[in-house]
Amino acid sequence: MRIPIKEVTPQTGQAEVIGWVHEVRDLGGLTFFLIRDRTGILQVTIPKKKVEEEVLATVREVSKESLVRVRGSVKAIEKAPGGRELVPESFELLARSESPLPLDVVEKVPADLDTRLDARFLDARRPRVTAIFQIRSAVTRTVYDYLFTRDFVNITTPKVVAAATEGGTELFPIAYFEKEAFLNQSPQLYKQMMMAAGFEKVFEIGPIFRAEEHNTTKHLNEATSIDIEVSFVDHRDVMQLLEDLIVHIYRTVQDQCASPLEILEIGELAIPHTPFERLPYPDAIEMAASATGETISYGDDIGTVAEKAIGERIGSHYFITDWPTAIKPYYAMPCDDDPSVCKAFDLMHPRMELSSGAARVHQHDLLVSQIRAKGLSPENFEFYLAPFRYGMPPHAGWGLGAERLIMTMLGLGNIRESVLFPRDRHRLTP
Ligand code: ATP
Ligand code: MG
Repeated sequence: MRIPIKEVTPQTGQAEVIGWVHEVRDLGGLTFFLIRDRTGILQVTIPKKKVEEEVLATVREVSKESLVRVRGSVKAIEKAPGGRELVPESFELLARSESPLPLDVVEKVPADLDTRLDARFLDARRPRVTAIFQIRSAVTRTVYDYLFTRDFVNITTPKVVAAATEGGTELFPIAYFEKEAFLNQSPQLYKQMMMAAGFEKVFEIGPIFRAEEHNTTKHLNEATSIDIEVSFVDHRDVMQLLEDLIVHIYRTVQDQCASPLEILEIGELAIPHTPFERLPYPDAIEMAASATGETISYGDDIGTVAEKAIGERIGSHYFITDWPTAIKPYYAMPCDDDPSVCKAFDLMHPRMELSSGAARVHQHDLLVSQIRAKGLSPENFEFYLAPFRYGMPPHAGWGLGAERLIMTMLGLGNIRESVLFPRDRHRLTP
């Protein structure tokens, strides 16, 4: 019976493992194989004089990254990985690997990201890459656990839609029979509609599609959004939930992902300082202006350079609050005392934006006028507007980019490293 490589110890006596050939070294009388599965690496030592000819015949044929099944006795040996080696009685080639390999799994030859992504299945055999996706999986589980524990209802909303959520140019049109349709930019309108349905607390972890024209290290054309929406609360409540969730995710990864973190050479995750600073937009642009020497006027977006400058000053996660209504989406609630400012916020990591959220407009007529003010036509949003005429509760929510969360947590240089099969301007395969 096959056992995971991690569990092979001298005490096991006999063991059978299945793994990929990580390395082969032929020293004349002795051949060493390193065999790898997702749990670790095992040295297989073949004293040519002592093993059957049948085994030797197979051994001669095996190329790197082939899949083999090996059975034999385990012995303690100091120099081998994990302090043990296996001397085979049987050595079976299950699936041969072609050579040369499109990518060196052992990482002796550094490969650029494009080459790695082209051969992602091989790239993902590397412990470093496996570690990233083990951590990503732990993060997803943590989010589900956290929200389920707090009585959130998990929902699934359509990704093929008739109207642009945010308006604008970042839309992917698709062929949908005789109708005009798009890939959804966010679940925003649908999660809000579920507030009208009385679901009270909903969340979705799902794809969002943005036709971002430019290749940057923090944008994908298909990303994963962690979205929540909650009734009867305001923006401050969902900000607190977001802050608590982020810290909980970091702590959980620190506690539960010791071995992938070690592979990534991250001893201690930098747990974000709490409470996260709440930086009003006017202070944010002033800070950015003084740090960069650029002029940023009230009502300008906070661009990448400004974002970085503020991040360096603050040095930990923070919120930008009190945004001008004019530069936030129509569904953000204006402040009661000054409607030119709205109840929207961005959660920032020092390197980049992680999340945007707001208290939402729940009054039908105000929403219509805000849609008009953005140059959009309310007629296109009738499916969304109808619920606002039948008892819509006040509500608030946010969308958190899963890849940016992973990327910033693990200090990855490029967002593509946190996605198995990234989609960007030039990449549609694999
Ligand atoms: P940015 O200004 O950084 O491009 P955004 O403000 O356009 O982001 P939102 O519409 O606020 O993005 O989406 C909410 C969150 O979803 C973002 O904070 C980000 O984490 C994530 N996100 C949005 N677009 C992308 C994208 N193209 N690639 C990766 N993540 C994204
Ligand atoms: Mg945003």
